[in-house]
Amino acid sequence: MNPVSVGTPAGAAPRIIPRADHSISRANASPNGLRVLYRLKDAGYQAFLVGGSVRDLLLGLIPKDFDVATDAQPEEVKELFRNCRLIGRRFRLAHVFFGREIVEVATFRAAHDPEAAERDEEEWRASLEQDAPAPRGEQRQRVLDERGRILRDNVYGTIEEDVWRRDFTANALYYNIEDFSVWDFTGGFEDVQARRLRLIGDPVTRYHEDPVRMLRAVRFAAKLDFTLDKGTEEPLPGLAYLLTHVPPARLFDEILKLFLAGFAARTLTLLQQYGLFEPLLPLTHECLKAEPDGVVARLLRQGFEQTDARVAAGKPVTPTFLFAVLLYGPIVERIIRAQADGAAETQSVFIACEDVMRAQQGRVTIPRRFVLPLRDMFVMQSRFHRRSSRKTLGLLAHPRFRAAYDLLLLRTAAGELDPELAEWWTRVQTLPAEEREQMLESPGPRPDGGAPRRSRRRRRPRTAAPE
Ligand code: ATP
Ligand code: MG
Repeated sequence: MNPVSVGTPAGAAPRIIPRADHSISRANASPNGLRVLYRLKDAGYQAFLVGGSVRDLLLGLIPKDFDVATDAQPEEVKELFRNCRLIGRRFRLAHVFFGREIVEVATFRAAHDPEAAERDEEEWRASLEQDAPAPRGEQRQRVLDERGRILRDNVYGTIEEDVWRRDFTANALYYNIEDFSVWDFTGGFEDVQARRLRLIGDPVTRYHEDPVRMLRAVRFAAKLDFTLDKGTEEPLPGLAYLLTHVPPARLFDEILKLFLAGFAARTLTLLQQYGLFEPLLPLTHECLKAEPDGVVARLLRQGFEQTDARVAAGKPVTPTFLFAVLLYGPIVERIIRAQADGAAETQSVFIACEDVMRAQQGRVTIPRRFVLPLRDMFVMQSRFHRRSSRKTLGLLAHPRFRAAYDLLLLRTAAGELDPELAEWWTRVQTLPAEEREQMLESPGPRPDGGAPRRSRRRRRPRTAAPE
């Protein structure tokens, strides 16, 4: 596809902002990222830092990863770095490893076809485990300049082409290691200064090409505190439905980026404002619509505020807890129904998790390894009410105790439970093991002839489900 199709002139010269006129300091860049840039440059290639890292450095933020763009072909990159692996099939990327840090090196490429971004991701998954073989039967037709530099390639491209396939102007700035200047083809430099997020080209076309760009718009607006340019913002509600066509596995990755990056509360507000929450989590959306200020809404909001605080404090956050919060409403609703149909307590949780996950997988794939711990968290919600047997204390050693206890605190904070229960669990953890048994309540009679005794001071039912 020709770059003209995104409504921008092909081959336009960049505005070059010299070192003296911008704020990027190499001191804030990753030493490994710089190492990669210098090695490429010393080998005679063009080498630029690109994407989010340039944007973040301009804003005085520490970038979370470093993307490098170069005119070196992937195989040529591999020859320069011992610690390098090629991934992807059609568009191959080089990953250069430095311990846990990965610097991603991409050869310039043109926006060949509209679904490239989406397919890339799938190819990337397929190639995760091994060095991908070079695309078979690929006929590379290259156009070279007089110095033999590749100008055009049916797989790769030039920097002038590379720029137009990028999403936002703020993400399309190139930092040249040759002279430390910033190359700006799209007006991104000014947009960053104005804290404005603007899609390159015609927004409706760009959202159709890759609907995930709608989520990226919200994510960057929330994270960077940018405003969306009018043209970038306006089509969102009308095009939100396009998200239902995106592969659910890709949306899982996107959801983690949306809600585990430290700006979940703001992100949620924006997603709802633009109608983007519903296509991602339709069941939860229904719960929120039914009771906009209910327990589920409060739990979600407070859960996200806490998640954001944890990220800010450098504490870990997990997909399991995130999805327990995101799907709390639908799971509880289903637990109630299952119990009304006669299911026993634990069984009702199993049924609910199974049903909700099955319905949710159509939109967002939640890997099994997160579903089982999530189910444990809900099973434990009901067990927390039994405070009369030694088995109760065994919960403290359960691998999911911490997450389940955090959910209990959250439910309490959202006003669903009497604080007394959470206080009990907080206190019992502070005691030495031999004193914990003294906190157990005497069993007392069981009015239902079998089901465990309920706390006298309980206002709400034992399970996550209100009766
Ligand atoms: P961060 O890493 O801080 O989340 P980023 O801008 O670096 O933000 P990445 O997902 O790492 O985002 O992508 C790197 C760059 O690749 C982007 O800055 C953008 O130029 C380009 N890019 C990524 N995804 C898309 C997409 N879906 N459509 C167009 N360009 C994209
Ligand atoms: Mg990045």
